[in-house]
Amino acid sequence: MSFVSATPETLVPLVSQYRWQEELQRAIRNPEELLEYLQLPMELLPQAEKAAADFPLRVPMPFVDKMQRGNPNDPLLRQVLPLAAELQVVEGYDVDPLEELDANPLKGLIHKYKSRVLLTMASACAVNCRYCFRRHFPYGDNNPSADEWRQVVDYIAADDSINEVIFSGGDPLLSPDRTLSRLVQELEAVEHLQRLRIHTRLPVVIPQRVDDELLQWLRSTRFQTVMVLHINHSAEIDTTLAARVADLKASGVTVLNQSVLLRGVNDSVDTLVELSEALFAAGILPYYLHVLDKTAGTAHFDCSETEARRLFAGMQMRLSGFLVPKLVREIPERASKTLIF
Ligand SMILES: *Cc1c(COP(=O)(O)O)cnc(C)c1O
Ligand code: SF4
Repeated sequence: MSFVSATPETLVPLVSQYRWQEELQRAIRNPEELLEYLQLPMELLPQAEKAAADFPLRVPMPFVDKMQRGNPNDPLLRQVLPLAAELQVVEGYDVDPLEELDANPLKGLIHKYKSRVLLTMASACAVNCRYCFRRHFPYGDNNPSADEWRQVVDYIAADDSINEVIFSGGDPLLSPDRTLSRLVQELEAVEHLQRLRIHTRLPVVIPQRVDDELLQWLRSTRFQTVMVLHINHSAEIDTTLAARVADLKASGVTVLNQSVLLRGVNDSVDTLVELSEALFAAGILPYYLHVLDKTAGTAHFDCSETEARRLFAGMQMRLSGFLVPKLVREIPERASKTLIF
């Protein structure tokens, strides 16, 4: 890839010549390569390699290129760089904090909340976020076959209280468009379904994922479509992403964002206000701000609920009401996310 130098610490890629599948292929998976590319101290390597043995490093180049070189505290780097802190056992941080394995009546289907079901389309993601509860999810175990997808569609067809299907994962947009559009067509035959929602981080880490093929089936579905992106810091938003969001919106997609409150990434009022403003400037509405699920290996990212409330109050003081995301926690057994006041 060719670069133009913007400032001494950042390099701005020219229009990418890679298709999204190629970007996936060339994503960085080796801690040494990441540290070298970002000109970071090699002292970080032994712990990165150790923590990556538990949950591998995986980060696509378009996301890496939004990081500041030479800065070990870069808020985007912190989301993906394996650290020794992950290996510490901290009481109260468990392997399956959401008890999702219990709400799994069929392979690929999670029906925890009334009126909507979540389909786990792919068990992997394009990026491995260190704070994610999926670091312990049984990768590869939950990939339904064509026949099992038919059972999922039958389950939805048999329950007319369901009006929305959520494609989740892993990252559903790792699936080829041909697979996605075929499933959407089957779902369209279920009359009581009105909406299709897609929870994805792919447009943020590989903007080329929003290509003509994806836009084409999004435009042609009878469903109202919603895409919920996952952006935690304003530095993840650039003109390339904004252009892809504009394409989505031109194809009739409502674009929302959910963030996770993360210590060392976005735990200040200034950072959160800047995030909401940058989201809206890029055509995205803030939806949720989640407090961290207490997953083993993520305690160093946690902010107390008291701190979360303080930050939320600070946002409310400075932002238009529609730019304040809902502050929520997920509590197992509850019939919805739980608002924190
Ligand atoms: C978050 C979540 C949903 C969607 O919840 P909304 O509040 O509608 O965004 C659905 N199913 C599961 C299992 C979830 O965790
Ligand atoms: S599910 Fe979301 S938060 Fe978790 S690793 Fe994938 S992209 Fe990151």
